[in-house]
Amino acid sequence: MHALAWMGKNKVEIVEVSRPKIIEPRDVIVRVTGSTVCGSDLHLLHGVIVELQKGDILGHEFCGVVDEVGSSVTRFKKGQRVVASFQIACGECYYCKQKLSSQCERTNANTIANAMYGGRTAGMFGYSHFTGGFAGGQAEFTRVPFGDVNLLPLPDDVPDEKGLYLSDVLATSWHAVVDTGVSKGDVVAIWGAGPVGQMAADFSLLNGASKVIMIDNNWRLEYIQRKYPHIETLDFTKLKSDETVTSKLKAMCNNRGPDIALECAAGEYAKSWGHTIEMALGLETDTSELVNEMITSVRNFGRCGITGVYVGFCNHFNIGSLMERGIRLIGNGQAPVHMYWESLLQMIREGKIDPLRMVSHRVNLIDLDKVYYKFEKKEDGIQKVFVQT
Ligand code: NAD
Ligand code: ZN
Ligand code: ZN
Repeated sequence: MHALAWMGKNKVEIVEVSRPKIIEPRDVIVRVTGSTVCGSDLHLLHGVIVELQKGDILGHEFCGVVDEVGSSVTRFKKGQRVVASFQIACGECYYCKQKLSSQCERTNANTIANAMYGGRTAGMFGYSHFTGGFAGGQAEFTRVPFGDVNLLPLPDDVPDEKGLYLSDVLATSWHAVVDTGVSKGDVVAIWGAGPVGQMAADFSLLNGASKVIMIDNNWRLEYIQRKYPHIETLDFTKLKSDETVTSKLKAMCNNRGPDIALECAAGEYAKSWGHTIEMALGLETDTSELVNEMITSVRNFGRCGITGVYVGFCNHFNIGSLMERGIRLIGNGQAPVHMYWESLLQMIREGKIDPLRMVSHRVNLIDLDKVYYKFEKKEDGIQKVFVQT
């Protein structure tokens, strides 16, 4: 079968590999009919997620049709349409019982991840050996461990083009909003106008936010101004010489700043000053001013939520502002998809949200390698891609 594989830093290729097989009795093999590329795949493309191996099959957002089931699978049979969650959960451990599936204690035994983060996170499809080494869904077939847990049936009235995004981006943006506590009347500033940021804007408004401001540096802001004029924008490359993102946001929000800041951008990695684990992993160092921008921008006792993926450590962190002004900084974590996907499916069916508003391109799996580079450079009006298999 064909699949998209990581072949080294900044290199992905379509390769021929053998179809996955049932390994455990609770496995399901899915014939993939739709997949997509996430901002998180760029962190893999760039090689900043550690423990990638050449030939690793990428892709953590996919839907398809059940092709084969293991002997202990009870909820699914061949031919059923399904969407997979991006994280692999066992459904039974301490965290899974609370639907905090992104923190499943059983599916990722990686010791480096455990040591680096002080605890385990769940296994993930197509996301390197750092998250368990599970092959991803940018492929013709994928093995889904604990299939009864990690697949959701798609009803006939929800086509793949809409259902696919229950895998990740819808749950991620909804979780960012809920977990950071966006509620009625809040002013919300969102860094990153990609699919995650745009859906977080929609969800903030759905939750009663009085104003949303999106911060980025590319044509996506013009697209938002054109299509969603009720959302305000801030292009950080167009600031005057005496302005900063923080001063501009204050000026746009009663000189106090937004109530809530959401990081839906692309942190990648943060600066380290010689932390031993990070050095041992050979991570490059670069600071993310973005987190400091969020802290200094929000009003006193404001809340900041981080959804963009960071790897490693962050010094030069404005802890003084955080303490003195009572800022609440929340790591939203990898979004626990299982907590939300049924209610999000319902929102799609009721027309409360429209995942198609993110989708700009339709491509075939065989052309997916080229799409990665386009998505990386944000060329050709690319937002979210529907990959047909
Ligand atoms: P994307 O690459 O399409 O969009 C990211 C946007 O952030 C781009 O438009 C980019 O120009 C902008 N950006 C970069 N640096 C910025 C800065 N300093 N200030 C403002 N904007 C900046 O990605 P996406 O698919 O929308 O994903 C966004 C982020 O969410 C990624 O980091 C991704 O890894 C992360 N993510 C997290 C989860 C989770 O569960 N926590 C799930 C999915 C994606
Ligand atoms: Zn993702
Ligand atoms: Zn579990």
